[in-house]
Order: sequence, then structure tokens, then C-alpha cells
Amino acid sequence: MTPVDELTAIELRDRIAAGQISSVEATQAALDRISRLDSTIGAFLVVFGDRALQVARDVDRRIATRQPVGPLAGVPLAVKDVMCTSFGATTCGSRMLQDFHCPSDATVIRKLLAADAVILGKTNMDEFAMGSSTETSGLRRTVNPWDRSRVPGGSSGGSAAAVAARLCSAALGSDTGGSIRQPASFCGVVGLKPTYGRVSRYGLVAYGSSLDQIGPLTQTVADAAILMNVIAGHDPADSTSVNEQVAPVDNYLQKLDEPVEGLRVGVTPSFNAGAEPAVQQAVNSAIDIYRGAGAEIVEIDMPHLDYAIAAYYVIATAEASSNLARYDGVHYGYRTPDPQDYIEVYTKSREEAFGKEVKRRIMLGTYALSSGYYDAYYLKALKVRNLIRGDFVRAFEQCDAICMPVAPTTAFRIGEKVDDPLKMYLSDIYTIAVNLAGIPGISVPCGFDDAGLPIGLQILTPAFSEAKLLRVARMYEARTDWHTRRPAIGG
Ligand code: GLN
Repeated sequence: MTPVDELTAIELRDRIAAGQISSVEATQAALDRISRLDSTIGAFLVVFGDRALQVARDVDRRIATRQPVGPLAGVPLAVKDVMCTSFGATTCGSRMLQDFHCPSDATVIRKLLAADAVILGKTNMDEFAMGSSTETSGLRRTVNPWDRSRVPGGSSGGSAAAVAARLCSAALGSDTGGSIRQPASFCGVVGLKPTYGRVSRYGLVAYGSSLDQIGPLTQTVADAAILMNVIAGHDPADSTSVNEQVAPVDNYLQKLDEPVEGLRVGVTPSFNAGAEPAVQQAVNSAIDIYRGAGAEIVEIDMPHLDYAIAAYYVIATAEASSNLARYDGVHYGYRTPDPQDYIEVYTKSREEAFGKEVKRRIMLGTYALSSGYYDAYYLKALKVRNLIRGDFVRAFEQCDAICMPVAPTTAFRIGEKVDDPLKMYLSDIYTIAVNLAGIPGISVPCGFDDAGLPIGLQILTPAFSEAKLLRVARMYEARTDWHTRRPAIGG
């Protein structure tokens, strides 16, 4: 029998429901593995051992007495520490929020708990989700389980590393410009960024509010589907979450194994040419798999994608500079211990608690929004965003799904890019346009480079077509076994 920490969320759920193992056993196994391995991986910022076991006991009792339970009953999961929880701190990987205790749960947390999931703990991340390597975390270093000298990707690096190291069966992350898909790619797991508005952002600490989305990081496409079933939907508390009459929420598991008939896959060879040869090769082989499955391969033209990074780093920093104004030493979080006057409450609190990258972005964003520069930068970036959105609309007239790399490289070395922000930003080239356009995207494991590091295939479909996206991803997964490979981390 498969050891308990190798099981997917659905497998665990089914075995717990069938009484083959208890939720307490599954939860204890995860907690044991975390205490054995996480001192080297560094995926978790906090682990709620007692609380998790208490929830697990309650689920076991309800199963034993044949009371109704939710679709994730007893399954141990992790969440990125950017989602507010009424238990434990919500730090966002920042010293600013190190001791911040939120009075209520984010909508996604409420939904996970209502589905009877067991929340094991909260995972590390780049500070305020700003970064692509989890190195900007002010609290902890996370390493890639495939090679501990390398980054796990970011900003949801803790969640991706936790799933890759099987410290939990699945996790939630958030994605503003690639932060679910890129760490999924670097760690060899599945990561889905839903359409903007599909999942409530209520209780998600804001970075770029017009770009942020919460989504799953999992071992399989089916697990991403079941998590979407739980977290998707309209939320009156988030006015940007979409009305279900306009865009109904599907049952993402229902037709998951049915291949998409007459599938047309759009490809962007000239855009992909910027990726490392091993990445290009893996993506091309993946496209061949679709061809072999009967799909038609269509070359598409996306003329504005080259401008995505420039537009994103104006828009995201502009929004961030506004969102982070609330950390003033008064409303939330850290306050400098000995201010001379009230001005120092603001300036010293921000100076002492924010890291370098966060300060850089606040400065960039403030500059882009300042009078005189607003038109030249922010407004111009919004226009480019519109052109990029148009590229996708036109592309999806010719194809059902687009396949491209997730990142130009595999996981890079710790320290390799962190002091060169431009280099770090350029690594987001394949993921960022997707957030600007608001469409859904998934990363699925599609191979390894010569150093044995995982590579992800990115698949994109039109807004609110997550059901199709997951089916297209499943077509690939069903024909390959990359997703079954595990890093050799011992224990
Ligand atoms: N790497 C991108 C950034 O630093 C995206 C981060 C994210 O998706 N949260 O902004």
C-alpha cells in the first residue's frame, strides 16, 4: 500500500471516508514528516499541530457516527501565509506583520474549513508576495526539495516546496504575476491560477489588487480540480468576485477525464525561443503529446507579449504602493519602539520593518503614480495591458488552449538573482501577461533538465474556462508520468 504521505488529497479523502485510515493518522503522519524534514526545507512559517489534530479528531468522530462531512473531510493541507486566519499570525513573510493576528478568516479559509479540510500550517513566501524565489521573505529561507542549493520559486515557494516534499497533500498559494505557476514549475507540482474574479480575494492580503488570485498547488490535476470545487464562487464580501449567473462555477471534477474533442492547441515558437534549450525541448515534446492525442497545433501571434514585463512592473508596483500605505505603524503591524514624533512613527516603522524589495516597489509605484508621470507610466501601462488582453482574445479565436513555458529556466541558485532585480523580473516573462489579461493558467510537470530539475508546461484558456483548462491539462497528465516523480529527500 502507498505510504500515507505519498497519497494525493483525493486518495486521502477516499481512504479516510472508507475508514481505511483516520484523519488523525493522516494528520499525524504529515506533522511527523514536517518535524523530520522542514528544518531543512523551510516551507512552513507556522504549524498548527494541536489545532490540526483537534479538527482531525472531530472529522473522524463525525465519519464514525455517519454524520455528513465535506468534500475534503480530514485531508491535511497548507496555506500560504498571505491568507488571513483567525488562528495564528498572518505574516505575509514580512517583519511588518510578524505579530499580526487577524480577527477573521479569509473566505477561502472559511471554505476549506467548511469542506472539513485540516489546515496544518501556513507557508513561507516572498515578502508581501513580491518576488520569484521566496528569497525576499523577511522570516525564513525556503529551499527547493529537488536541490537544496536552489530556490523553490516564488512567491508561493513555501506551498510548492511543501507539496513537492510531501509535507502536505496539497496547498493554496496566490498568483499576481506567476506566483503559483512558477514555483509549481520549479518544484515539479501542479499549480493553477484561476480567472481573476473566480475565487474570492476577501482576506487575501493585497499586493496588486487587479491581478491577485488564490489557487491550488497540488500533486495532480484532479486535486487542483477538487480544490477549485471548494474555493471557487461568488463572494458578496469581494465585489470583484464574479456573479455566478454571469459565469457559473462548474463541477471541475465531473468531466475531468474526458478528452476535449477537436482540441486546437495554440503555440508561440518565437516567444518560446527566449527559454533555455531544455525548457524549449520539454515544452515541444509536450506539444507533440497533444498532437499524438489528435489535437491540431496552431501557430499564434501574440505581438504585445514582449511588453508584458514593463507594463506589469508599473501596474503591480503602482497598486502595491497604494495597498501598502496602510502599514504606517498605527493601523496594522510593526511600530518603531521609540519614535521622537509622529512623523517618525510612520517613517521609522516602515523603514525598520519592510525589506529591500518591498521598499523598491513602493518607490517605483509611487513614482509611476505621481502627477506628471502618471500619464507617461501608469496610464501607458494600462493601455499596454489592454493590447495584451486583445492578443489573447484574438488568439483564442484560433485555438482552444495555448501551451508555452512557465519560466525561461529551471530553478536557479539561491543568491543568483536576488541582488539583480531586473534579472529577477525578467524571469516572469511567460507568466505575467496571463494576470494582466485576467485569464486562467496552469503549470503541469513536463520533464527535467540535465541537472534533474523539474520543468513545467503552462497551459492557458479563456476567462472562466477552468473546467476546460483542467481537462486539457489532464489529457497531458494521463499520457505522461512526470507528475509521479518525487525528489529524493529521505524519510
Ligand atoms: N514575480 C512577480 C512579482 O514579483 C509575481 C509575484 C506574484 O505573483 N505574487 O511581482
